[in-house]
Amino acid sequence: MYSETSMASYASQPATSAGRVFAEPPPTSRTEYQRDRDRIIHCTAFRRLEYKTQVFVNHEGDLFRTRLTHSIEVAQIGRSIARNLRLNEDLVEAISLAHDLGHTPFGHAGQDALNACMEGYGGFEHNLQSLRVVDRLEQRYGAFDGLNLMFETREGILKHCALVNARKLGPVGQRFIDRKQPSLEAQLANLADEIAYNNHDIDDGLRSGLLTTTQLDEIDFYARQRREVERTFPGIAGRRAINETIRRMINALIVDLITTSETRIRDAAVQTVDDVRNAQPLIAFSDAVGAEAKALKRFLRENLYHHYLVNRMTSKARRIITELFDAFIAEPALLPPDYVLTKQEHQQDGLRQARKVADYIAGMTDRYAMREHRRLFQVDEI
Ligand code: MG
Repeated sequence: MYSETSMASYASQPATSAGRVFAEPPPTSRTEYQRDRDRIIHCTAFRRLEYKTQVFVNHEGDLFRTRLTHSIEVAQIGRSIARNLRLNEDLVEAISLAHDLGHTPFGHAGQDALNACMEGYGGFEHNLQSLRVVDRLEQRYGAFDGLNLMFETREGILKHCALVNARKLGPVGQRFIDRKQPSLEAQLANLADEIAYNNHDIDDGLRSGLLTTTQLDEIDFYARQRREVERTFPGIAGRRAINETIRRMINALIVDLITTSETRIRDAAVQTVDDVRNAQPLIAFSDAVGAEAKALKRFLRENLYHHYLVNRMTSKARRIITELFDAFIAEPALLPPDYVLTKQEHQQDGLRQARKVADYIAGMTDRYAMREHRRLFQVDEI
């Protein structure tokens, strides 16, 4: 069985964990974090990721990343780095697979639209929603709502959190109030996410034709790897050249993250998870590579995320989400019964109806949201 003794003393361990909200007997044939990973893989929200947008809407093409394939790539990158740094691979995997569970349909456009709709009802934030999915919304176990995950998995899922929300969350929100760091595994999953999306968005951008290699040649980091590929394989072209370039970019980021983080961990002289929580962030790129990753992000924002054809989808997504929200708030009777407050609940706290609407919309896949929109707004659709 996978041994936890090969890990560093500052890796997260079930033995020193804050554990689960509802006490459960320890697992017999896997570790606690493996159990979390397995619960995540088997939950409904995980399967929905297959039909949720990353940048391109699911029906735009079969080869583009979805939130599901994105999450699998994050887990792969995270695990590789975790093993090098002797961190808890199972925990990194669990956090990575769960990190986008609360994402709305239509990517960031959906999140922004739903957040705007929820202004006045406490807002909507996808990290918090991911936590809400694993803490409350999944209904699979007799003894509790949610998946009853380990503290460190939940902490890793809650990457960001506004103070006003952190104060309502108890122990898992405390680090935002105390300004402390999460575990190294959580820090790592966060950067593995960034490595994954920067690179696969370039890949998808090229595949879609919205980005060109000529544009990308202006990015130093890309151009360097590309030249190296052409030196190694004279005459190489097309997808093969793109793939060779992108794999080198991913590798360069991973190697830099490992070596920089090793140095920072050594310099901070951390021994335990508690030391990690009180230190500065320790999983990081070097300044030089950090700047290159930033340039890559800026390039994607300017040239892909705000490409006029992406803007069109973004605009449609905003309309769909907003119109669904407004319709359900105006007439809760249009909602499936599970999402309607009882009269008594409504009198106690009318805001909860808006939260239920947000839960319903956030849980939708891209195509379900489009279908639901047609059902509500087109008379010949049932
Ligand atoms: Mg992500």
